[in-house]
Parts: sequence; structure tokens; C-alpha cells
Amino acid sequence: MKIICIGRNYSEHAKELNNPVPEEPVFFIKPDSAILRNNTPFYIPEFTNEVHFEIEIVLKINRPGKHIAEQFAHKYFDEITAGIDFTARDVQQELKHRGLPWEKAKGFDGAAPIGLFVPKSSLTDINALDFRLEVNGEIKQHGNTRDMLFGFDKIIAYITRFVTLKKGDLIYTGTPAGVGPVKAGDRLQGFIANQSMFNFQVK
Ligand code: ZN
Repeated sequence: MKIICIGRNYSEHAKELNNPVPEEPVFFIKPDSAILRNNTPFYIPEFTNEVHFEIEIVLKINRPGKHIAEQFAHKYFDEITAGIDFTARDVQQELKHRGLPWEKAKGFDGAAPIGLFVPKSSLTDINALDFRLEVNGEIKQHGNTRDMLFGFDKIIAYITRFVTLKKGDLIYTGTPAGVGPVKAGDRLQGFIANQSMFNFQVK
């Protein structure tokens, strides 16, 4: 399986990193070795001094698809959760500055913790979904999927112009404003509405 991540999908987050608001979706891929499940602790890697949290809504693809039309895209995922797109921000800034790919900053081991998947049918409206990240019990990021520049269906249609999706693939759909660094000892808890999706420790 693969993990596809959308960048700059909330305008307030694009602004906080001084990135332009994109005219079409920006995406990149993490390897499956980046996944952390079941609230496994995250170990800060030794090559970075600045790992940032980015909470995101994550979709799980339920069937293969290529060139998926936007109006049928909702049939390609039944379950969602929240996850963290961990980013070695210092490494990423250097790579961006040099015009190089982001894999070292985004694809390292443990860079993709995911929560427990819930059926989207159990949620009232996935296009107006509140989600938030608490670090040590304090709210650091708060988003609503209605503020996405590109909604779930548009994202799926766009990605599959280029890349075939397979059953089990994950799509991280972008982070709202408020990203920041983690340190050893932090506890990260992610919520969709008021339901806890993940709760793990940084080491
Ligand atoms: Zn992200």
C-alpha cells in the first residue's frame, strides 16, 4: 500500500509557512514503513532538530481506481480517521530551498501515525467535520473539513489522473493552521468531533 498526502490544502496553513495558496492540489507520497498504528510511541529521529506535528483527516481507499470521476469518488472510501503527517521542518526547509524532493523530511520511519478508522456513515457530515489535535491536553490545531481548498472528492479525482489507487491506500488530506514542534515526553491526542482517534507519546 501507499500513503498519498495533500499539501497546502488549508489556506491559513499555507500562509503560516509562507507558501502560496495552490491552484491545483499538491501531493507527495510516504512509504508504508512510515506508518505507526495502535498508539505506538513516536521516536524523534536523530537527523532533525525540529519535527512538526500536522494533524490531518485520513481516508482509507476501499477498491482500486484510476481516472475516478469526482461524482463517484465518494464510493472509493468508507472509513476515515485522523493521523499525523510528521515533518522534519528543518530538513524540509533546506530541501525546498535547494529545489529537492521532500522524502527525507516527510517519509522517515514513524512519520505517519494513524488512528482507529471509523465508518464515515457514523459521522454526520464528512464535509463539515470538526477535528483537533491536543498536545499534553492543550488544543494546538483545530480544523474543519469545510475549509479544505480541495474537498475529498476533488482530491481523489485529481490524484487518480496520475496514480492508480489500490485497496488499503491511505490519503492524508492536509493540515489546518497551528503546526508546531514536538519534544520528547509530549502526548499527542487527535479527535474527530469529540471522538478520540489516537493518543500516543513522543520519545
Ligand atoms: Zn501535511
